[in-house]
Amino acid sequence: THSREVQVFVRIRPTANFARDLIECLPDGQTVNIYHRKNSKKLQDSRKRQLSSCSFQLEGVLQDVSQEEFYTRVCRRVVLGALDGYNGTVMCFGQTGAGKTYTMTGSTESYKQRGVIPRALQEVFQEVEKRTEHAFNVHLSYLEIYNETLVDLLSSLRGSSRQSPHSMVVMEEPERGVLIRGLSLHPVHSEEEALNLLFEGEMNRIIGSHALNRNSSRSHCIFTVHVECRSRTLSDAKYVTSKLNLVDLAGSERLGKTGSEGQMMKEAAYINRSLSFLEQAILALADHRRDHVPFRQSKLTHALKDSLGGNCNTVLVANIYSEAAKIEETAQIKKLEKDVQMLKEELSLCNTLAN
Ligand code: ADP
Repeated sequence: THSREVQVFVRIRPTANFARDLIECLPDGQTVNIYHRKNSKKLQDSRKRQLSSCSFQLEGVLQDVSQEEFYTRVCRRVVLGALDGYNGTVMCFGQTGAGKTYTMTGSTESYKQRGVIPRALQEVFQEVEKRTEHAFNVHLSYLEIYNETLVDLLSSLRGSSRQSPHSMVVMEEPERGVLIRGLSLHPVHSEEEALNLLFEGEMNRIIGSHALNRNSSRSHCIFTVHVECRSRTLSDAKYVTSKLNLVDLAGSERLGKTGSEGQMMKEAAYINRSLSFLEQAILALADHRRDHVPFRQSKLTHALKDSLGGNCNTVLVANIYSEAAKIEETAQIKKLEKDVQMLKEELSLCNTLAN
Protein backbone atom coordinates (compact mmCIF):
# COMPACT_ATOMS: atom_id res chain seq x y z
CA THR A 1 0.00 0.00 0.00
CA HIS A 2 3.04 2.27 -0.21
CA SER A 3 2.51 2.51 -3.92
CA ARG A 4 3.46 5.86 -5.41
CA GLU A 5 3.26 7.63 -2.16
CA VAL A 6 5.44 10.65 -1.63
CA GLN A 7 5.40 12.23 1.79
CA VAL A 8 6.48 15.84 2.11
CA PHE A 9 7.61 17.39 5.39
CA VAL A 10 8.78 20.88 6.21
CA ARG A 11 11.53 21.39 8.77
CA ILE A 12 11.97 24.91 10.05
CA ARG A 13 15.47 25.98 11.05
CA PRO A 14 15.36 27.43 14.56
CA THR A 15 16.07 31.14 14.92
CA ALA A 16 15.77 33.90 17.49
CA ASN A 17 14.04 36.04 14.84
CA PHE A 18 11.18 33.83 13.84
CA ALA A 19 8.97 35.74 11.42
CA ARG A 20 5.76 35.09 13.31
CA ASP A 21 3.66 37.32 11.08
CA LEU A 22 4.91 35.73 7.87
CA ILE A 23 5.03 32.07 8.75
CA GLU A 24 2.01 30.51 10.31
CA CYS A 25 2.08 26.91 11.47
CA LEU A 26 -1.46 25.68 12.04
CA PRO A 27 -2.24 23.60 15.12
CA ASP A 28 -2.98 20.54 12.96
CA GLY A 29 0.80 20.17 12.60
CA GLN A 30 0.34 19.61 8.88
CA THR A 31 -0.26 23.03 7.44
CA VAL A 32 2.03 26.00 7.03
CA ASN A 33 1.00 29.31 5.49
CA ILE A 34 3.72 31.56 4.19
CA TYR A 35 3.03 35.22 3.46
CA HIS A 36 5.28 37.06 1.07
CA ARG A 37 5.47 40.21 -0.96
CA LYS A 38 3.43 40.30 -4.11
CA ASN A 39 6.20 41.99 -6.02
CA SER A 40 9.77 42.95 -5.50
CA LYS A 41 9.03 46.39 -4.01
CA LYS A 42 10.27 46.88 -0.52
CA LEU A 43 7.90 45.57 2.07
CA GLN A 44 6.18 48.62 3.56
CA ASP A 45 3.79 46.87 5.80
CA SER A 46 3.74 43.36 6.98
CA ARG A 47 0.00 43.15 7.39
CA LYS A 48 -1.05 39.90 5.87
CA ARG A 49 -3.75 41.32 3.64
CA GLN A 50 -1.10 43.19 1.65
CA LEU A 51 0.77 40.02 1.00
CA SER A 52 0.14 36.99 -1.05
CA SER A 53 0.26 33.70 0.65
CA CYS A 54 0.89 30.13 -0.18
CA SER A 55 -0.48 27.38 1.92
CA PHE A 56 1.27 24.03 2.13
CA GLN A 57 -0.52 20.89 3.11
CA LEU A 58 2.06 18.43 4.36
CA GLU A 59 2.64 15.17 6.10
CA GLY A 60 4.14 17.15 8.95
CA VAL A 61 5.54 20.55 9.89
CA LEU A 62 8.58 20.11 12.10
CA GLN A 63 9.50 23.06 14.23
CA ASP A 64 11.94 22.79 17.14
CA VAL A 65 12.25 19.04 16.84
CA SER A 66 15.42 17.29 17.94
CA GLN A 67 17.47 15.20 15.54
CA GLU A 68 16.22 12.10 17.32
CA GLU A 69 12.59 13.06 16.98
CA PHE A 70 13.13 14.01 13.37
CA TYR A 71 14.62 10.62 12.61
CA THR A 72 11.86 8.76 14.44
CA ARG A 73 8.99 10.67 12.90
CA VAL A 74 10.25 11.04 9.36
CA CYS A 75 12.89 8.46 8.47
CA ARG A 76 12.56 5.38 10.62
CA ARG A 77 9.74 3.88 8.55
CA VAL A 78 11.81 4.27 5.36
CA VAL A 79 14.89 2.66 6.92
CA LEU A 80 12.93 -0.31 8.29
CA GLY A 81 11.19 -0.60 4.91
CA ALA A 82 14.57 -1.02 3.21
CA LEU A 83 15.33 -3.97 5.51
CA ASP A 84 11.99 -5.49 4.51
CA GLY A 85 12.92 -5.23 0.83
CA TYR A 86 11.39 -1.87 -0.16
CA ASN A 87 13.52 0.74 -1.84
CA GLY A 88 13.40 4.05 -0.03
CA THR A 89 14.53 7.62 -0.42
CA VAL A 90 14.83 10.49 2.03
CA MET A 91 15.71 13.77 0.33
CA CYS A 92 16.40 17.22 1.71
CA PHE A 93 15.53 20.18 -0.42
CA GLY A 94 15.98 23.90 0.31
CA GLN A 95 18.15 26.97 0.25
CA THR A 96 21.81 26.81 1.20
CA GLY A 97 22.05 27.24 4.95
CA ALA A 98 18.50 26.13 5.68
CA GLY A 99 19.63 22.87 7.31
CA LYS A 100 19.87 20.11 4.68
CA THR A 101 23.30 18.86 5.73
CA TYR A 102 22.40 19.32 9.39
CA THR A 103 19.41 17.10 8.74
CA MET A 104 21.15 14.41 6.70
CA THR A 105 24.64 14.25 8.22
CA GLY A 106 24.22 16.27 11.38
CA SER A 107 26.54 18.48 13.33
CA THR A 108 29.85 17.22 14.63
CA GLU A 109 29.38 19.40 17.70
CA SER A 110 27.68 16.70 19.70
CA TYR A 111 26.61 13.10 19.41
CA LYS A 112 23.02 14.19 20.08
CA GLN A 113 23.14 16.29 16.93
CA ARG A 114 24.07 13.51 14.56
CA GLY A 115 21.79 13.37 11.58
CA VAL A 116 19.75 10.93 9.57
CA ILE A 117 22.62 9.01 7.92
CA PRO A 118 24.46 7.92 11.09
CA ARG A 119 21.15 7.12 12.79
CA ALA A 120 20.02 5.06 9.81
CA LEU A 121 23.32 3.14 9.83
CA GLN A 122 22.94 2.45 13.53
CA GLU A 123 19.41 1.16 13.04
CA VAL A 124 20.35 -0.98 10.02
CA PHE A 125 23.02 -2.85 11.99
CA GLN A 126 20.81 -3.18 15.08
CA GLU A 127 18.15 -4.79 12.90
CA VAL A 128 20.66 -7.03 11.14
CA GLU A 129 21.69 -8.33 14.59
CA LYS A 130 18.08 -8.80 15.68
CA ARG A 131 16.74 -10.49 12.58
CA THR A 132 18.62 -13.73 13.10
CA GLU A 133 16.36 -15.70 10.79
CA HIS A 134 17.72 -13.69 7.86
CA ALA A 135 21.19 -13.27 6.40
CA PHE A 136 22.07 -9.74 5.31
CA ASN A 137 24.77 -8.23 3.13
CA VAL A 138 25.15 -4.48 3.35
CA HIS A 139 27.13 -2.30 0.92
CA LEU A 140 27.54 1.45 0.80
CA SER A 141 28.08 3.91 -2.01
CA TYR A 142 28.36 7.69 -1.99
CA LEU A 143 27.73 9.58 -5.20
CA GLU A 144 28.02 13.29 -5.87
CA ILE A 145 26.38 14.85 -8.92
CA TYR A 146 27.94 18.13 -9.92
CA ASN A 147 26.97 19.87 -13.16
CA GLU A 148 25.56 16.59 -14.47
CA THR A 149 28.85 14.78 -13.89
CA LEU A 150 29.08 11.89 -11.49
CA VAL A 151 31.76 11.80 -8.79
CA ASP A 152 32.45 8.78 -6.58
CA LEU A 153 33.06 10.09 -3.06
CA LEU A 154 34.45 6.71 -1.99
CA SER A 155 36.54 5.90 -5.02
CA SER A 156 40.03 6.70 -3.90
CA LEU A 157 42.13 7.62 -0.97
CA ARG A 158 41.75 11.11 0.29
CA GLY A 159 43.37 13.72 -1.87
CA SER A 160 44.80 11.31 -4.40
CA SER A 161 43.75 11.45 -8.01
CA ARG A 162 40.01 11.23 -8.29
CA GLN A 163 38.30 8.99 -10.73
CA SER A 164 37.50 10.65 -14.01
CA PRO A 165 33.86 11.66 -13.76
CA HIS A 166 33.23 10.42 -17.28
CA SER A 167 33.89 6.83 -16.36
CA MET A 168 30.55 6.52 -14.55
CA VAL A 169 27.27 5.91 -16.31
CA VAL A 170 23.71 5.53 -15.05
CA MET A 171 22.35 2.24 -16.42
CA GLU A 172 19.24 0.17 -16.04
CA GLU A 173 19.20 -3.60 -15.89
CA PRO A 174 16.04 -5.70 -15.89
CA GLU A 175 17.08 -7.74 -12.84
CA ARG A 176 18.87 -5.19 -10.75
CA GLY A 177 17.14 -1.96 -11.67
CA VAL A 178 19.15 1.25 -11.86
CA LEU A 179 22.84 0.92 -11.29
CA ILE A 180 25.71 3.27 -11.77
CA ARG A 181 28.50 1.64 -13.65
CA GLY A 182 31.84 2.65 -12.19
CA LEU A 183 30.48 3.64 -8.77
CA SER A 184 32.31 1.74 -6.02
CA LEU A 185 30.26 -0.41 -3.62
CA HIS A 186 31.83 -1.09 -0.22
CA PRO A 187 30.85 -4.08 1.92
CA VAL A 188 30.27 -3.14 5.56
CA HIS A 189 29.70 -5.41 8.55
CA SER A 190 29.20 -2.99 11.41
CA GLU A 191 27.99 0.48 12.28
CA GLU A 192 31.55 1.53 12.95
CA GLU A 193 32.82 0.41 9.56
CA ALA A 194 29.91 2.18 7.91
CA LEU A 195 30.54 5.42 9.82
CA ASN A 196 34.20 5.35 8.80
CA LEU A 197 33.15 5.25 5.16
CA LEU A 198 30.67 8.07 5.69
CA PHE A 199 33.44 10.22 7.19
CA GLU A 200 35.76 9.28 4.34
CA GLY A 201 33.10 10.41 1.88
CA GLU A 202 32.52 13.65 3.76
CA MET A 203 36.26 14.35 3.68
CA ASN A 204 36.38 13.69 -0.05
CA ARG A 205 33.44 16.02 -0.53
CA ILE A 206 35.27 18.79 1.31
CA ILE A 207 38.65 18.11 -0.31
CA GLY A 208 37.06 17.91 -3.75
CA SER A 209 35.39 21.24 -3.24
CA HIS A 210 38.72 22.86 -2.27
CA ALA A 211 40.87 21.16 -4.89
CA LEU A 212 38.42 21.74 -7.71
CA ASN A 213 37.34 25.12 -6.43
CA ARG A 214 33.68 24.42 -6.27
CA ASN A 215 31.09 24.99 -3.63
CA SER A 216 29.76 21.76 -2.17
CA SER A 217 26.34 23.31 -1.72
CA ARG A 218 26.15 23.30 -5.51
CA SER A 219 26.09 19.53 -5.85
CA HIS A 220 23.65 16.73 -5.06
CA CYS A 221 24.96 13.97 -2.78
CA ILE A 222 23.40 10.52 -2.67
CA PHE A 223 24.47 8.21 0.14
CA THR A 224 23.10 4.74 -0.59
CA VAL A 225 22.76 1.72 1.67
CA HIS A 226 22.41 -1.38 -0.53
CA VAL A 227 20.74 -4.22 1.35
CA GLU A 228 20.66 -7.88 0.33
CA CYS A 229 18.56 -10.16 2.48
CA ARG A 230 17.95 -13.90 2.36
CA SER A 231 16.02 -16.23 4.60
CA ARG A 232 18.22 -18.63 6.57
CA THR A 233 15.37 -21.06 7.13
CA LEU A 234 14.42 -21.73 3.51
CA SER A 235 17.16 -23.70 1.82
CA ASP A 236 16.49 -22.36 -1.68
CA ALA A 237 15.86 -18.75 -0.62
CA LYS A 238 17.05 -16.05 -3.00
CA TYR A 239 18.46 -12.71 -2.00
CA VAL A 240 16.02 -9.81 -2.02
CA THR A 241 17.76 -6.54 -2.73
CA SER A 242 16.76 -3.01 -1.81
CA LYS A 243 18.29 0.43 -1.71
CA LEU A 244 18.02 3.21 0.81
CA ASN A 245 19.02 6.58 -0.67
CA LEU A 246 19.79 9.44 1.68
CA VAL A 247 20.02 12.57 -0.43
CA ASP A 248 21.34 16.04 0.28
CA LEU A 249 20.27 18.13 -2.70
CA ALA A 250 22.05 21.21 -4.03
CA GLY A 251 20.86 24.54 -2.64
CA SER A 252 17.60 25.50 -4.31
CA GLU A 253 18.19 29.27 -4.30
CA ARG A 254 17.67 30.66 -7.70
CA LEU A 255 21.07 31.88 -8.73
CA GLY A 256 22.12 33.02 -12.09
CA LYS A 257 19.34 35.28 -13.22
CA THR A 258 21.17 38.39 -12.18
CA GLY A 259 24.76 39.21 -11.63
CA SER A 260 26.46 35.86 -11.66
CA GLU A 261 28.58 34.74 -14.54
CA GLY A 262 30.51 31.87 -16.02
CA GLN A 263 30.94 28.95 -13.68
CA MET A 264 28.24 30.13 -11.27
CA MET A 265 25.80 30.60 -14.08
CA LYS A 266 26.47 27.14 -15.41
CA GLU A 267 26.09 25.59 -11.95
CA ALA A 268 22.84 27.46 -11.43
CA ALA A 269 21.47 26.23 -14.72
CA TYR A 270 22.30 22.62 -13.95
CA ILE A 271 20.86 22.82 -10.46
CA ASN A 272 17.69 24.56 -11.55
CA ARG A 273 17.26 22.05 -14.30
CA SER A 274 17.84 18.93 -12.21
CA LEU A 275 15.62 20.22 -9.39
CA SER A 276 12.90 20.98 -11.91
CA PHE A 277 13.12 17.51 -13.35
CA LEU A 278 13.00 16.07 -9.86
CA GLU A 279 9.98 18.19 -9.13
CA GLN A 280 8.34 17.03 -12.34
CA ALA A 281 9.06 13.40 -11.54
CA ILE A 282 7.60 13.84 -8.06
CA LEU A 283 4.50 15.58 -9.38
CA ALA A 284 4.00 12.78 -11.87
CA LEU A 285 4.40 10.19 -9.11
CA ALA A 286 1.93 12.01 -6.89
CA ASP A 287 -0.55 12.11 -9.75
CA HIS A 288 -1.87 8.57 -9.94
CA ARG A 289 -3.31 9.13 -13.39
CA ARG A 290 0.06 9.78 -14.96
CA ASP A 291 1.73 6.63 -16.12
CA HIS A 292 4.77 8.20 -17.63
CA VAL A 293 7.20 9.60 -15.11
CA PRO A 294 10.03 11.59 -16.70
CA PHE A 295 13.03 10.10 -14.94
CA ARG A 296 15.67 10.19 -17.57
CA GLN A 297 16.08 13.90 -18.13
CA SER A 298 18.70 14.44 -15.46
CA LYS A 299 21.34 12.30 -13.75
CA LEU A 300 19.65 12.96 -10.43
CA THR A 301 16.22 11.63 -11.36
CA HIS A 302 17.68 8.83 -13.45
CA ALA A 303 19.89 7.65 -10.57
CA LEU A 304 16.85 7.64 -8.27
CA LYS A 305 14.45 6.15 -10.77
CA ASP A 306 13.80 2.87 -9.00
CA SER A 307 13.76 4.46 -5.56
CA LEU A 308 11.05 7.07 -6.06
CA GLY A 309 7.40 6.13 -6.19
CA GLY A 310 6.45 2.66 -7.37
CA ASN A 311 6.76 0.25 -4.51
CA CYS A 312 9.01 2.64 -2.61
CA ASN A 313 8.91 4.87 0.39
CA THR A 314 9.75 8.40 -0.62
CA VAL A 315 10.15 11.27 1.80
CA LEU A 316 10.92 14.80 0.71
CA VAL A 317 11.98 17.23 3.40
CA ALA A 318 11.83 20.94 2.60
CA ASN A 319 14.27 22.71 4.91
CA ILE A 320 13.31 26.34 5.38
CA TYR A 321 14.59 29.45 7.09
CA SER A 322 12.14 31.36 9.20
CA GLU A 323 13.62 34.85 9.21
CA ALA A 324 11.63 37.58 7.44
CA ALA A 325 14.57 38.37 5.16
CA LYS A 326 14.50 34.85 3.77
CA ILE A 327 10.79 34.52 3.08
CA GLU A 328 10.98 35.39 -0.59
CA GLU A 329 13.19 32.40 -1.26
CA THR A 330 11.28 30.25 1.19
CA ALA A 331 8.15 30.91 -0.81
CA GLN A 332 10.00 29.13 -3.59
CA ILE A 333 9.05 25.87 -1.94
CA LYS A 334 5.94 26.57 -3.94
CA LYS A 335 8.12 24.71 -6.43
CA LEU A 336 6.81 21.63 -4.73
CA GLU A 337 3.37 22.48 -5.97
CA LYS A 338 2.33 22.63 -9.56
CA ASP A 339 4.59 25.28 -10.99
CA VAL A 340 5.43 24.27 -14.47
CA GLN A 341 5.97 27.87 -15.48
CA MET A 342 9.20 27.84 -13.56
CA LEU A 343 10.33 24.76 -15.42
CA LYS A 344 9.79 26.55 -18.69
CA GLU A 345 11.82 29.53 -17.54
CA GLU A 346 14.61 27.27 -16.43
CA LEU A 347 14.63 25.39 -19.68
CA SER A 348 14.87 28.61 -21.59
CA LEU A 349 17.75 29.66 -19.33
CA CYS A 350 19.50 26.38 -20.11
CA ASN A 351 18.87 26.84 -23.81
CA THR A 352 20.26 30.34 -23.66
CA LEU A 353 23.39 29.01 -22.03
CA ALA A 354 23.76 26.20 -24.50
CA ASN A 355 23.70 28.62 -27.45
P1 ADP B 1 22.52 23.48 4.14
O1 ADP B 1 23.05 22.10 4.11
O2 ADP B 1 21.05 23.54 3.82
O3 ADP B 1 23.31 24.47 3.34
P2 ADP B 1 23.40 23.43 6.90
O4 ADP B 1 22.84 22.11 7.28
O5 ADP B 1 24.85 23.50 6.61
O6 ADP B 1 22.58 24.01 5.65
O7 ADP B 1 22.99 24.45 8.05
C1 ADP B 1 23.55 25.74 8.18
C2 ADP B 1 23.86 26.01 9.66
O8 ADP B 1 22.68 25.98 10.45
C3 ADP B 1 24.78 24.96 10.26
O9 ADP B 1 25.68 25.61 11.12
C4 ADP B 1 23.85 24.06 11.03
O10 ADP B 1 24.50 23.44 12.14
C5 ADP B 1 22.76 25.02 11.49
N1 ADP B 1 21.44 24.36 11.57
C6 ADP B 1 20.65 24.00 10.54
N2 ADP B 1 19.51 23.43 10.94
C7 ADP B 1 19.56 23.39 12.30
C8 ADP B 1 18.70 22.90 13.34
N3 ADP B 1 17.52 22.31 13.04
N4 ADP B 1 19.10 23.05 14.60
C9 ADP B 1 20.27 23.63 14.92
N5 ADP B 1 21.15 24.10 13.99
C10 ADP B 1 20.82 24.00 12.70
